[in-house]
Amino acid sequence: MEPGPAVLADHSVVLKDGRIEAVMPTAAVEPAYAAARRVSLPRHAVIPGLINLHTHAAMSLMRGLADDLPLMVWLKNHIWPAEAKHVSPDFVYDGTRLACAEMLAGGITCFSDMYYFPESSARAALDCGMRAAIGLIAIDLPTQYASDPDDYLVKGLAMRDAYRDQPLLSFCMAPHAPYTVSDPLFGRIRTMADELDLPVHIHLHETREEIEASLAQYRVRPLERLQALGIVGPRLIAVHGVHMSDAELDTLAKFGCSVAHCPSSNLKLASGFARVASMLERGINVGLGTDGAASNNRLDLFLEMRTAALLAKAVSGDPEAMPAYQALRAATINGARALGIDGLTGSIEPGKAADLCAVSLNGPEMAPQHSILSQLVYAAGRENVTHVWVAGRLLLGDGAFTAIDQRDLDKRIGLWQNELTGESAP
Ligand SMILES: [Zn+2]
Repeated sequence: MEPGPAVLADHSVVLKDGRIEAVMPTAAVEPAYAAARRVSLPRHAVIPGLINLHTHAAMSLMRGLADDLPLMVWLKNHIWPAEAKHVSPDFVYDGTRLACAEMLAGGITCFSDMYYFPESSARAALDCGMRAAIGLIAIDLPTQYASDPDDYLVKGLAMRDAYRDQPLLSFCMAPHAPYTVSDPLFGRIRTMADELDLPVHIHLHETREEIEASLAQYRVRPLERLQALGIVGPRLIAVHGVHMSDAELDTLAKFGCSVAHCPSSNLKLASGFARVASMLERGINVGLGTDGAASNNRLDLFLEMRTAALLAKAVSGDPEAMPAYQALRAATINGARALGIDGLTGSIEPGKAADLCAVSLNGPEMAPQHSILSQLVYAAGRENVTHVWVAGRLLLGDGAFTAIDQRDLDKRIGLWQNELTGESAP
């Protein structure tokens, strides 16, 4: 991924103490290193672990609970009532473990999460061995998790203080969206983001309705309002960014903002088409997110890479828009950059954490291999992932989890399914 596309044949990655020690021709490894363990993958591509820049991991427990509805109807009539009734620390812990299992099996090594009871998300990620950017969620509405803005911020800070020394975790301020966060709360979020040097992870310009509501209430579009509140800067991660004018894209570029593009979620909720080609043209850092499993319904970045690349071409009318290499960048190094952890992960470089994913090139769907990059983005699926390492720890070996107790997880998910039965749409 860095500094440009490089496909190295017959190479090995040497890991030591969780880091990448060297990337070198396999023939040169034997004389140079006495390996404690060796994994031979002669017909695979090893790529950086994928980074899911936007999800609500625990919502995996609500996968398929209500589908085929517009965003606000879906939220107000289905998701928010189900959350009010069921969401608890245990719900978030089990739901996040379910998401981690799905993501790891699909080559995702890091996710940026926004949900209630983030302490439970952090614990679940660590128990599964995954890297995560945990959002300090803030919203003006009371929920099971917190009673008022103060309560959200105090609990978020306590969570961050408790986990700040965990090498696999980083943190983001996570105001939910412009329509659920007031100006005074944004003011405090800005101060905290400045003081703690944290990214600000927020749903932004997702739907037309969001923009109309902002014009009615504040007389400006959400991005302009956030700019006036000092939220727009290099730490901003604008999730969705579907409805953006040329001037607004210029603003995102000028301030060095990132966009978390979630093409499947935008398609399913009929939110619209993000102008990804125009973003890339302007040099905006575009990462990829799955959004929650309730609105996608897969936490699958192979699918998002392919969908993003195809949509970018269709929407711009330009088949050269978002080539395969750009799609793979969006799912790896760009996500790391948005989260401020690109010095640590997102590419296979000596010194970085050994966050790796091996993709099998066996099988008719992966043959022939004229271009590995093309195969990875346009032909491969998450089912081709065989091995995953996070910080040098093998978490998926030959398709089997090494750190997740699948039987225990299945049992817990079965219990939650029973609990949630009755919430589902007819
Ligand atoms: Zn979302």
